[in-house]
Amino acid sequence: MTGNDASARPAPQTPEHFDVLIVGAGISGVGAAYHLRQQCSEKSFVVLEGLESFGGTWLMHTYPGIRSDSDLYTFGYRFKPWTGPPIASAGEILTYMGEVIDENDLAPHIRYGHTINRASWSNDENLWTLEGTRSDTGEPVHFTANFLWMCQGYYRHSEGYTPKWEGMDDFKGPIIHPQTWPEDLDYKGKNVVVIGSGATAATLVPAIAGDCGHVTILQRSPTYFIPGGNKNDLADQLRDLEVDETWIHEIIRKQILHGQRVLTRLSFEQPEMVKEQLLAGVKAYLGPDYDIEKHFTPKYLPWRQRIAFVPDGDIFKGILSGKASIVTDEIEKFTKEGILLKSGEMLEADIIMTATGFNLSVLGDIDFAIDGKPVDFSETVTYRGMMFTGVPNLLWIFGYFRASWTLRVDLLGDFVCRLLKHMDKTGAKKITPQLRLEDEDMPLLPWMDPENFNPGYLMRSMHLLPKRGDKPDWQHTQDYWAERDDIPAIDLEDDIFEYE
Ligand SMILES: Cc1cc2nc3c(=O)[nH]c(=O)nc-3n(C[C@H](O)[C@H](O)[C@H](O)COP(=O)(O)OP(=O)(O)OC[C@H]3O[C@@H](n4cnc5c(N)ncnc54)[C@H](O)[C@@H]3O)c2cc1C
Repeated sequence: MTGNDASARPAPQTPEHFDVLIVGAGISGVGAAYHLRQQCSEKSFVVLEGLESFGGTWLMHTYPGIRSDSDLYTFGYRFKPWTGPPIASAGEILTYMGEVIDENDLAPHIRYGHTINRASWSNDENLWTLEGTRSDTGEPVHFTANFLWMCQGYYRHSEGYTPKWEGMDDFKGPIIHPQTWPEDLDYKGKNVVVIGSGATAATLVPAIAGDCGHVTILQRSPTYFIPGGNKNDLADQLRDLEVDETWIHEIIRKQILHGQRVLTRLSFEQPEMVKEQLLAGVKAYLGPDYDIEKHFTPKYLPWRQRIAFVPDGDIFKGILSGKASIVTDEIEKFTKEGILLKSGEMLEADIIMTATGFNLSVLGDIDFAIDGKPVDFSETVTYRGMMFTGVPNLLWIFGYFRASWTLRVDLLGDFVCRLLKHMDKTGAKKITPQLRLEDEDMPLLPWMDPENFNPGYLMRSMHLLPKRGDKPDWQHTQDYWAERDDIPAIDLEDDIFEYE
């Protein structure tokens, strides 16, 4: 893997200047760096990353079994073929990202251990100033940049979301959130309760069940799952025919994206039919006598929250073997011995794991200011979920929920490079999205329509996010299939963009 020698440099006294500054070296930031280097090779840029290495989500989540729930043909970049089974472990994703960094000589552009705390825009200088801290020395660092590319993800990395339940302090054992997994946690032979049944629980439970005494998945309400083999028959066939990996990558991306498009469309046009099909997939593993209605039939319609892919049905196999079980109930309180449920049932536990989700973080918990005035992003309107009214020279990568996040990294990579070239050509130093005259009476709504997508972390923090309008220009539509045509066709001379 690529080292972090760049962060060993002494902090400069005066701010270092770059044309473009990228915050975050996760899959978005590394993709952003690649596109800048390929498409805008004359631009100077730096990637500032708070952690000691690249990978973001895939570096900091270390719980057993951590893996993607998207296929890597589409979660991988469009420019680097994925050659393994579709679902990948965090380690495999890190190896892939490391290769992207090495093959494209991106390492000299990345500074690790640099956490950004403040970003200030000056209208006089048309410049962002970033203030941060180095993790190795604790020294302050300062940078200036013309354009700020925010690739800091969407959730707080320091800690996950754990609801407060009565009696938590009374519990005799550890309460662990998978986002902050202790390296030395000994769960061998232990009785474990995992609270939550989303993608994290679906990954964690099969990975630990074999070693634990027993694992109980405690859910308030069920999640949709898609069981399936961790393989792609067409990819394997093409490999047998010795087709070039670049072609395989392209073909399999098209195949998967087509299938996802059909599923997404059907989820809105014929949700009951999709629901039946998803439940039939679970029934096929658990058999006709299992209470699918109670434990695996969500209250929401398909695709209003992420659907967890279960490679080889591993979580169902755990349930069938008796090593894992599922309880659908609500927590009354924690006790010394475990969890008392509202039904009166008692779940005894040695360890409780809270797979209860994230805390959303809007733009990396960085304090933003424009000419000294703090920016409240909830008072801005988002331009396509990537820029914000009144905030100059800034773009945020917020990927897709129903398709792989990285598809948007590539799309927005093209967009930023096209925009920077356009600004160079026209001599513009500043671009600020603004509502047009025709947008003035547009209703302003929360970032995401809860009828469309409603996971807990989004519902809890919607008030912090920018507003959306009722036109595609003014919202993150979450529709990759429309955006792959719309974003390359954006008219950079539209009145939405104010240039100076
Ligand atoms: C367990 C898990 C599994 C997931 N699986 C999938 C999946 O299969 N498919 C999918 O599409 N999505 C998945 N997601 C969503 C996932 O987060 C994104 O797909 C993607 O990895 C996000 O990449 P990113 O680079 O935008 O953000 P992150 O991976 O969150 O990386 C952001 C980086 O920015 C750094 N950073 C943040 N703030 C600052 C700051 N102030 N200063 C300096 N550095 C900063 C962080 O340290 C981090 O390294 C998953 C998420 C989780 C938590």
